[in-house]
Amino acid sequence: AMKTEGGGQDHQLTVALRVRPVSDAELEQGATLIAHRVDNNNPHFIESICSTTGPGKRKLDNDPYRKMVVLMDPQEDPDDILRANRSREKQYVFDYSFDGRSSQEEVYAHTTRPLIESVIEGFNATVFAYGATGAGKTYTMLGTDHEPGVMARSLNDLFEGMYRTSENMVYQVSMSYLEIYNEMIRDLLSPESGYLELREDTKGVQVAGLSEVNAKSTKEVMELLQQGNKQRTQEPTKANKTSSRSHAVLQVTVKQRSRVRNTTQEVRVGKLYMIDLAGSERAAQTQNRGKRMKEGAHINRSLLALGNCINALCEKGPKAYVNYRDSKLTRLLKDALGGNCKTVMIAHISPASTSFDESRNTLLYADRAK
Ligand code: ADP
Ligand code: MG
Repeated sequence: AMKTEGGGQDHQLTVALRVRPVSDAELEQGATLIAHRVDNNNPHFIESICSTTGPGKRKLDNDPYRKMVVLMDPQEDPDDILRANRSREKQYVFDYSFDGRSSQEEVYAHTTRPLIESVIEGFNATVFAYGATGAGKTYTMLGTDHEPGVMARSLNDLFEGMYRTSENMVYQVSMSYLEIYNEMIRDLLSPESGYLELREDTKGVQVAGLSEVNAKSTKEVMELLQQGNKQRTQEPTKANKTSSRSHAVLQVTVKQRSRVRNTTQEVRVGKLYMIDLAGSERAAQTQNRGKRMKEGAHINRSLLALGNCINALCEKGPKAYVNYRDSKLTRLLKDALGGNCKTVMIAHISPASTSFDESRNTLLYADRAK
């Protein structure tokens, strides 16, 4: 996290990059690897994928995960790599970057685990997975039975953290899982409920009628998430067989009240949002028509609105005017993005030359957010 010495700033944004392993399909298409690791202490050292420390826009410390990435335009002469290494506009610096060898645990430990304690203390936090379809968002957030992702790991740590500190307090962890598709909200744990309304009252932003499940174990949570994920709206486009056109939002609420006073009044409520965003590829690139084009416009609206909000919060601080009203996603997250909240953006790219345009757009978006 962007912890500054002596207290830190109000809004903390961490931006991480995850470059997934190259796939067999990409290699069969003749793809080359274009995400490069750069060592500025040794400008002649360049390795495929991810990087070591280098001079960036921000102060870098000795954290081995603070890294710089260079994305090579596949049209360019490979001999120009060294030149590109020195051209500022092609260097992207992140708080952390992960490559194809990074484990789920590593990604979780450096991005999301640092949020858990503050959620237990009653603060809100959000983790986003950003990137084009196929870049690895769902792998990071949901993962597999053997390699569970950020969602299940967070819940696991929330359970554990609560057992450790539960002597005088009663804790309750509940979860909701919804999708925003075409600016409409559906309950992924109860799809038969139809479209749900977003309401704002004195308690904050609420999704009317959204089911809340009291989570008890990680295994149970993983099953619920996988079931829910099957309910996500995924339809074929020209570019990809199944691209996720929806934002999937896992909302975890931690409530605690004092055991001693035996009151039903909640003393603290912390929320952790974990969001598998819709594919960030442009509608134009998929040459879609009609329905797909409209979806693309909505998706871009949400992603653009999200980028604008994060940008405003980071640039101008918590007192800035932030326009949350531009999309359902930002309206929903209003209470979780501002103020003392912590935000993590995990941007995802493929290392393959065949994804150059998408990867560059993702890096630019992540760079802008920062
Ligand atoms: P997205 O959700 O961004 O569309 P996925 O998470 O579905 O992308 O990833 C696309 C494919 O790549 C999947 O088959 C997934 O299992 C695989 N994959 C993605 N990231 C990794 C990773 N870090 N390690 C191994 N396989 C990965
Ligand atoms: Mg996905």
